Amino acid sequence: MSELELLNNYEVLKDYFVDKPKPIFDSKTIQIILLREVLDFTIFRTEESKELNTVITPTAIDNDDPVERVAFLGSKQKAVESRQLASLLRTATNDVEYDEVEECYLKDYLCLKCPRCGLFGGTSASSSNKSDSNIKHRIAYSTAYSLDSFEELQELITFNGINDKKVNTGQALGVRKSVKPASIFPSIITLRSVTWKEFIWVVKSLLSAHKYGAESRIGGNVRNNIVGIAAGWEEVITPLELTLELSKEENKVDIDNISNILEEYKGIAAHTNKIKILNSEKLGNILEETQEFELDKDFIEESYKDIEAYRKEQGE
Ligand SMILES: [Zn+2]
Repeated sequence: MSELELLNNYEVLKDYFVDKPKPIFDSKTIQIILLREVLDFTIFRTEESKELNTVITPTAIDNDDPVERVAFLGSKQKAVESRQLASLLRTATNDVEYDEVEECYLKDYLCLKCPRCGLFGGTSASSSNKSDSNIKHRIAYSTAYSLDSFEELQELITFNGINDKKVNTGQALGVRKSVKPASIFPSIITLRSVTWKEFIWVVKSLLSAHKYGAESRIGGNVRNNIVGIAAGWEEVITPLELTLELSKEENKVDIDNISNILEEYKGIAAHTNKIKILNSEKLGNILEETQEFELDKDFIEESYKDIEAYRKEQGE
């Protein structure tokens, strides 16, 4: 089997991919900038307190007045997208009849052999064997903050569980705080020391993940729009900075403006010359080629073999 070739439009990022995933990371970093658009009533609450997660932040990068925002916790984004990748792997391996795959179930039966385990990391259930040591994650999440204030977003959903005939007018069995449809959460996923193949798996998982929120039966539909890519030897911007930048009165929420903001942050980086911010055309080309890319048997086989080699290196 010959080595697969880098996709044409990925050339621009080639200095930021590693050839093979390895247990020891280097500093090659790719940040995927997303606008997560909440399309219906999604409930961002903590499991314990059932409270909506909110946090006080400045109004904008140039306005220190405090404002309350809704927080979309990194752990909640990660849980959904990790499961999405696992499901994509099951489907794609079945589709091409690649059968050298072990069952991998979150969270208790991780195989530590698949591209999901390779990227998201995992701990072996039976760690008596040295080669069963843990895999460190190379994909990182952090909390995303709503663009609009909690006050603007807050709505009370009134719902009742009884069938219509029995309900008295005005009777409400439950009132919950939720988030209004089409609220925007600027968000960032940071990849470190990943291969271009892993990048494909991540982008396809992001674009196909739609169900979020504490109680999926009550909606939780989200669309992930990829609106920027910043690559370098370090992280260029954090999600809170991005939300605060986009909250400046003169700043519009569009791809060109986001790429301008990233260029500004390049100016305060440690390795300015190593940073590459994609413009809207290059970003569009990368996304299009990724969306059209077929997950064929060679690609899948190489993706699995890469993790096998990683584990071998770790065991030695
Ligand atoms: Zn696995």
